Amino acid sequence: MTDFCIFCAIAAADAPASIVAEDENAVAFLDLHPLTTGHTLVIPRRHVTDVLDADGAIGEVAALLEGTSRLLVDKLGADGLNVFQATRAAAGQTVFHLHFHLLPRWSGDGLLAMHEIRSRVSESLETTHARLVG
Ligand code: AMP
Ligand code: ZN
Repeated sequence: MTDFCIFCAIAAADAPASIVAEDENAVAFLDLHPLTTGHTLVIPRRHVTDVLDADGAIGEVAALLEGTSRLLVDKLGADGLNVFQATRAAAGQTVFHLHFHLLPRWSGDGLLAMHEIRSRVSESLETTHARLVG
């Protein structure tokens, strides 16, 4: 027997969720513990664990991710939006079914912007680039 997956259960309508949009490949529903009003998760219907296991599933959620972003901004009157994804526990992933966080943002809402996070990278760009393409 395979492990129970709460997001598979939501996609199959076997577990409750506040679904805001769906199509044949993907489902968008409100996060149980919103970081901002309208915090939404977009998942592929089929089970893949993360970006490194995606096997094309990122393409399958793309249309719903775009449409749900538009819905959130228009209906909630947001000033902007963050898209966030965590792959593996080291990156903060806690539910191991691929999901993208959509975070509606308002000017001055107090949530950090990426450029406000202090960099801790000591390696030079040249070294990193060489490791990637050298
Ligand atoms: P992550 O930490 O990136 O893996 O995100 C997992 C997210 O799933 C968290 O923000 C949780 O609040 C959310 N979550 C967990 N279970 C549920 C659920 N049953 N319905 C909606 N959101 C959930
Ligand atoms: Zn799953």
